[in-house]
Amino acid sequence: MTRSQKKEDPSKLLSNSGLNIKPSGIREFFDIVYNMKDCVSLGVGEPDFETPWRISDTGINAIREGLTHYTPNRGVPELLELISGHLHDRYNVDYVPDREILVTMGVSQALDLALRSIINPGDEIIVIEPCYVSYAANIELVLGVPVIIPTYFNEGFRIDPDRLKKAITPKTKAILLNYPSNPTGLSYPEELLREIAEITQKNNILVISDEIYSAISYGKPHFSIASVPGMKEWTIVLNGFSKSHAMTGWRLGYAAAPEFIMDIMLKIHQYTGLCAPSISQYAAIEALQHGERDVERMLVEYTRRRNYIAKTFNDIGLPCLYPEGAFYAFPDITPTGLTARDFALKLLEQYKVAVVPGNAFGESGKNHIRCSFATSMDNIKTALERIEAFVKSL
Ligand code: PLP
Repeated sequence: MTRSQKKEDPSKLLSNSGLNIKPSGIREFFDIVYNMKDCVSLGVGEPDFETPWRISDTGINAIREGLTHYTPNRGVPELLELISGHLHDRYNVDYVPDREILVTMGVSQALDLALRSIINPGDEIIVIEPCYVSYAANIELVLGVPVIIPTYFNEGFRIDPDRLKKAITPKTKAILLNYPSNPTGLSYPEELLREIAEITQKNNILVISDEIYSAISYGKPHFSIASVPGMKEWTIVLNGFSKSHAMTGWRLGYAAAPEFIMDIMLKIHQYTGLCAPSISQYAAIEALQHGERDVERMLVEYTRRRNYIAKTFNDIGLPCLYPEGAFYAFPDITPTGLTARDFALKLLEQYKVAVVPGNAFGESGKNHIRCSFATSMDNIKTALERIEAFVKSL
């Protein structure tokens, strides 16, 4: 059969998967914020700190020394060794550097590779909502089906094991977890992770564990599901430098997984990404070797802000759980009678404070707003004074 020679609309050539994914619910607000003067933003999902100088300097030196070429596909061997040591020391999991770890362009790429490695068209991935805006879209782009399990404020946004069991079907490939969570700021207790591990093991499904906020944990140290006996073979751990070391623009993350999965991830990476940025990899070596004090310094400041923001929201009358990690507060706005979108729009227009409506992270976030405290204490105080005035005005 020959193709029609008739002139047609070139937009007909676009892919269904590209056309059908929903635009991010966050964009709308940032487009408004961008053009607004005197706006205080609690909307941003990245550290307000500069990348620590010792790390940036190492990146600059890498350029000076001409380390600006492709690296091995998997990553610079010294960095792989350090990541392996870090995962062992911090999270009690053991990965062989040159077989079970892959350095990626942020957790974003690590997630994409993980999904591409396990999904055949129609396969299901269980997603816990409210969650990071990219999850469903990433799954759909590789022709998988996100199966949503909602979690709720009055249950501390914990996963209900019964709901999880019911969501598993013969098509389920994996459950995608994120703890500490964007947007709720909550983590899962060790007992719950052990229970989830038991359920996934019984049902022969994998866990993709996005632990990008693990270094920003308040109180209890982070516990990785991969450290539960028997789970390493069934888990793909995702982590990186964006949040822990204020390195979002360096685009550096990594995945750790059993070799049979990692072989596929590496193969796809060789064709689609080649290698993570060389300069960033050298900077990350410095981050792991000498960046611990910087992480601690940032954590002290996040803790101060977290205590202030959670207490103040509760004082204002918007119930807020104390974040256990990450840098987001997720107060309940039910007492105002407004939808999250109306709350966020009115707050922005009338009081010039940007927050993200909770429904951007899934239906079960609809009574909440996400407020990032990755901004200065002064900004946070101003924003909360304005939020208080707004709530009183209703
Ligand atoms: N996972 C979660 C839960 C996030 O919140 C983000 C960024 O906000 C990412 C992954 C993407 O991280 P990266 O900058 O490493 O690609």
